[in-house]
Amino acid sequence: MSLAPKILVADDDQALTRTLSWILKENGYEVATTNNGDHLLERLADDPVDLLLLDIMMPGADGLQLLERVKGDPQLRHLPVLMISSMPPEEATVRALGLGASDFISKPFRVRELLARVKAHLRVGRELNQARAEAHSRSEMVDILQEVTASLKPEEIYHILVRRVARGLKISKCSLIFAIAGENEATVVASYENPVLKDLRIDLARYPEIRRALDTRQTVLVSDVSTDPLYEEARAAWEQEGWRVPTRSAIAIPFVLRDGRAGVFFLRTTEEDTPLNASDLSFAEQVIKAATQALEKAFDLESAVVGREQMKQLAETDPLTETYNRRALADKLVQELERANRYQTVLACLMADVDNFKQINDVHGHLVGDSVLRQLGAILRREQRTVDVVARYGGEEFVVLLPETAVAGARIFADRVIKKVAAHQFGTADRPIHVTISIGIACYPDLRVQDGEALLQLADQHLYKAKQDGRNRYRD
Ligand code: GH3
Ligand code: MG
Ligand code: MG
Repeated sequence: MSLAPKILVADDDQALTRTLSWILKENGYEVATTNNGDHLLERLADDPVDLLLLDIMMPGADGLQLLERVKGDPQLRHLPVLMISSMPPEEATVRALGLGASDFISKPFRVRELLARVKAHLRVGRELNQARAEAHSRSEMVDILQEVTASLKPEEIYHILVRRVARGLKISKCSLIFAIAGENEATVVASYENPVLKDLRIDLARYPEIRRALDTRQTVLVSDVSTDPLYEEARAAWEQEGWRVPTRSAIAIPFVLRDGRAGVFFLRTTEEDTPLNASDLSFAEQVIKAATQALEKAFDLESAVVGREQMKQLAETDPLTETYNRRALADKLVQELERANRYQTVLACLMADVDNFKQINDVHGHLVGDSVLRQLGAILRREQRTVDVVARYGGEEFVVLLPETAVAGARIFADRVIKKVAAHQFGTADRPIHVTISIGIACYPDLRVQDGEALLQLADQHLYKAKQDGRNRYRD
């Protein structure tokens, strides 16, 4: 089986398909081709690929419909799709991005740009899939652990473990100690006999059995502390201090977790308990093996929560501009409108579009165009408050939602952003690029606005007015 990323090219233009496959193969990709849209979904299901290059117009097949079906299929939803479009139909491109296309490539294409985009989207797709796969197995673990303990914090797990071990062995003292072999101090993280104790540092010179268990990674059983040679030094010290040690026998069972953390379960009996013997020891070892697995799960669980957050963020983010993508915007819009209704507050929606962006692409190339979009995303993110939402709406269009902001506040924001953009140097010193944007503002509540769709439409109408009135300005 080949490890090269696999790409399916679906385009009816035979010459283009041939050239594309040749270029992609030359660059180390595995390539399959098809010149029609028949059975595209079945084909993708039977023979999965890592990326799809899809023509927007093929005879007998509407590329956008195919795209919609791919994105509607639970198995294929996350497949990166680059749309290939012959120059203009801008409408189609914006619609394609709205439907979930990762990007588009215009015919005739430039080879370097094509390769850069393929590479970027393969990478994003891979990261997303990996995060998703990890989160899947981790969340299964979460369920198992919840069954066992219903407790999520490691500290709580520590306490549950010392309690279980102590009760299982019917002894009065059991502590869980984390330590690093070779160090002189260790940390007691939980103790059955003293439930409020937390992170107590201990000097290992006083605990020769713990030190030996850590050093040898073997269980240490001391049946009688008052006679065992291991305690010779310690006994002398106790005597000097006039300390009457109640401990009769002790077991130190070492463990090492998958992540390298190590420690011991430390069990002690006093004169009232029956002394520990070899059969207690093997039972204790079994209990502790199970306990160690529970601990590992607890730590995995902690990172699973972090992993799920990361995955969610990846799935909501436009990879080029690192703002929210269109799908996330739709969710936020619903949430914000609901909030505005519930609390009787207002919401402003700004639609920003780069002026004459086509020209920037034509003069400087698409890669520079992409860099302009990335910088623009950064400017908008810098200007936003934490409650605001900045999203890439389409190719070179952004939407900003300003909760609890009425038209006056939205104008101030629009004016500030427009000035910041006009003053920003988007190119390099020897190749300066000046960019301006136009903004349409719509506010909720408004008699013309029933839902999110209508709010966006109104902002779009006002954007159109700003363009007609000469660009580099806002209208509301
Ligand atoms: P206007 O002032 O009227 O908005 O003029 P414009 O040139 O910006 O017009 P229009 O909105 O029709 O053109 C948008 C262009 O943006 C067309 C498309 O090639 C380009 N574009 C869309 N998405 C991307 C992208 O992700 N990267 C690059 N480099 N270009 C893009
Ligand atoms: Mg534009
Ligand atoms: Mg536009």
